[in-house]
Amino acid sequence: MESAEVARRFLNFFAERGHTVVPSASLIAEDPTLLLVPAGMVPFKPYFLGQRTPPSPRMTSAQKCVRTPDIEEVGKTTRHATFFQMLGNFSIGDYFKEQAIPFAWELLTRSRDDGGFGFPEEKLWVTVYTDDDEAQDLWHRGVGVPLERIQRRGLADNYWHMGVPGPGGPCSEIYYDRGPEHGREGGPVADEDRYLEVWNLVFMQKQLGTVRSKVDFDVVGDLPSRNIDTGMGLERMAAILQGVDNIYETDTLWRVLERAAELTGAKYGADHRADVSLRVIADHVRSGTMMVADGIRPGNEGRGYVLRRILRRSVRNLRLLGGQDAGLMHALTDVAIAAMGEQYPDLVRTAANIHTVIDAEEESFLQTLRTGTAIFDTAVAETRSAGAGALPGAQAFKLHDTYGFPIDLTLEMAAEQGLRVDEDGFRRLMAEQRDRAKKDAREKKTGNLDVSVLDELLTRSGGRVDFTGYGAVTGDA
Ligand code: ATP
Ligand code: MG
Ligand code: MG
Ligand code: MG
Repeated sequence: MESAEVARRFLNFFAERGHTVVPSASLIAEDPTLLLVPAGMVPFKPYFLGQRTPPSPRMTSAQKCVRTPDIEEVGKTTRHATFFQMLGNFSIGDYFKEQAIPFAWELLTRSRDDGGFGFPEEKLWVTVYTDDDEAQDLWHRGVGVPLERIQRRGLADNYWHMGVPGPGGPCSEIYYDRGPEHGREGGPVADEDRYLEVWNLVFMQKQLGTVRSKVDFDVVGDLPSRNIDTGMGLERMAAILQGVDNIYETDTLWRVLERAAELTGAKYGADHRADVSLRVIADHVRSGTMMVADGIRPGNEGRGYVLRRILRRSVRNLRLLGGQDAGLMHALTDVAIAAMGEQYPDLVRTAANIHTVIDAEEESFLQTLRTGTAIFDTAVAETRSAGAGALPGAQAFKLHDTYGFPIDLTLEMAAEQGLRVDEDGFRRLMAEQRDRAKKDAREKKTGNLDVSVLDELLTRSGGRVDFTGYGAVTGDA
């Protein structure tokens, strides 16, 4: 089943059950607390909060999403993309758990000839929030899932919120068992690679105040109504339905991956590191294409920086595979546009614009790499001959300040050489520079503070290992 058909089936199923089909919103979040849309519910947030009246109490959508915090997982797990599409059904004060659960079950298990996805019941596992007996009952007594395939999980997995103040609630997730060749027995609690999370049903009912982390937040009250917000990963469904190992091998992403292999001469499946690079390229080129199409431009802060990082990581991974030439990004963007064009016809119409932006970013980054790589190599050689395990902060700072090497790039390139980077030292120098810039700005009264530096500093000190929200403005970039 093609990816586009997965979306069609989902939307049809819910349209037939009284849901209004709402087109995907832009990746640029209207919500000021977010840089990019990380989930299907974002455009519906004002409805959950009771700030706006929905066009209909039942809605369904296929929403374009970008999740920057997942960037390090891309290509390494079987299931994380930076750009993906989330299929969802939404109820604003209409039905609640008692209807959302049977809807989900019916769509997943109904035969393919009859508009469903035709999953065998025994392959499906579900999780419910620790104390959600009601949801467990609906799964067990209501639709007949045996208790052995229902697991309970805590806040980290089964309570959904946006990482910022807003709506939230306990959730129930559905997993597909890909079989013993994909990992250990024991359900999603034991192995999330074998048991692939495909769908999250969120019982949106609480208003959250301060959110300190994924598991540490204040609930300040109830939402005006009890709502349903669900998110199904289109790419993950496609991977299962197309019988491939991971999302990067599904129809649309595969076309980009295959072309990247052709252009660089890499053989997919021959070497783990090269495979990761090919998967990163496939994801990032598509992601970059979709972001540019929505009007985002590479820059040094905010979503512009997210895009820049994604495009530059594509170029870097092409180089790791031996692809040095300008123009590779153009060829790959062409494939991404063609692959996604069926679902997003605007891509084809605006192809020339998309190319202009991506080609220019490739060119400027290749220039940066040409000058910076020699400096980087010297720094590595010096670090090695000094017998140190970490590149000095001063070198990372010089690479950043003089040669435009973002710290992520220095970190990645150092890691490839088996070296760490003295990040504390780097941050100290960045802070000093920021203070100097502030002082200069005060003295000149121009207020011309270089926010890009500040932004990058925030990024690094935001603690990437901690949950910082799905691309919330603070921390993640
Ligand atoms: P995971 O635990 O696998 O990281 P999640 O619990 O973070 O997923 P949710 O926030 O529940 O994901 O999002 C709803 C659905 O969107 C998931 O069930 C999954 O199918 C899909 N999804 C989430 N993140 C990604 C991603 N990075 N790439 C592709 N699909 C995703
Ligand atoms: Mg996740
Ligand atoms: Mg999860
Ligand atoms: Mg989930």
